[in-house]
Amino acid sequence: MSAIELYARQRAGFDERLAHAVAVLQSAAGEHAGAVVQATSLGAEDMVVTDLISRHQLNIAVATLDTGMLNPQTLALIPAIEQRYGIEVQRFLPRAEATIEFVRQHGEQAMYQSIELRKGCCNIRKMEPLARMLAGRSAWVTGLRREQSADRGTVPFSETDAQGRIKLNPLADWSWADVWHYIKSNSVPYNALHDEFFPSIGCAPCTRAVAVGEDMRAGRWWWEQQGAKECGLHVKPEGVVA
Ligand code: SF4
Repeated sequence: MSAIELYARQRAGFDERLAHAVAVLQSAAGEHAGAVVQATSLGAEDMVVTDLISRHQLNIAVATLDTGMLNPQTLALIPAIEQRYGIEVQRFLPRAEATIEFVRQHGEQAMYQSIELRKGCCNIRKMEPLARMLAGRSAWVTGLRREQSADRGTVPFSETDAQGRIKLNPLADWSWADVWHYIKSNSVPYNALHDEFFPSIGCAPCTRAVAVGEDMRAGRWWWEQQGAKECGLHVKPEGVVA
C-alpha cells in the first residue's frame, strides 16, 4: 500500500490551511525578496512547500543539506525537483576535511556510540553547512508541523531564530493527512521511502522504518531517548525545540 493510499485524506478546513500556507510564503517572498531560502529535507512536507513555491512563482530559493549520508531514494529527488519545476536545488555539503578527520578519530559508527558523538557528526554534516546556506539571508522556510512530535507541538507560523533570522513554518497547522492529500491532488514527487513506512527521513544510518502506532519521528535516532532526538537545526539555544 502506498503512502498516498495510507495517509491522504481531505479533512475539514484543508482549503483554509492551504490558503494560509500560501499567504505565509507570499509574505516571505515579498518581505525578504532575494534573501529567503527554503531549507528542504526532501521529506513529504518539504516537497509540498517546494511545489507551492514553484506553483505560485515565488522568489524563494530552494536548498538542501547533502550530508553525504543520504539514501539514494532521497538524493534522487534533487534532479526530480529540478526537472519538474525548472529550478535549481542548491546543495550544501559538509567540508571534506572535517568529515575525514571525524571518521578518522571516531570511526564510521560514531553516531551510535554517544549522543555527543552523534551531535558532533550532525554539527559537521548539518549545522556548519546550514550556517553557510543561511549566510546573507534574512529568512528561511521549513516544513515543520506541530503534529510531527510532542517537541514540535507549539511550532508557530513565524518565529525568530537564534541568529535573529525570520523562520517561517507555513505548514505548522497541517496534519499528515493534509500533506498527503496535497501530494495526491497535485501529483507532487515524493521520496520512495515513504512507501516503506519511513514517515520522517534523514541520513541513512540514523533513520529506520516505524511500526504501526509509533511516533512519526520514532525512526530517527531510534537508539536515543526522546528528549535528545533533534539534530540541532530546529533547537533554540535555551533548549526549547522550535
Ligand atoms: S543524522 Fe546521523 S549521519 Fe546524519 S549528520 Fe546526524 S549523526 Fe551524522
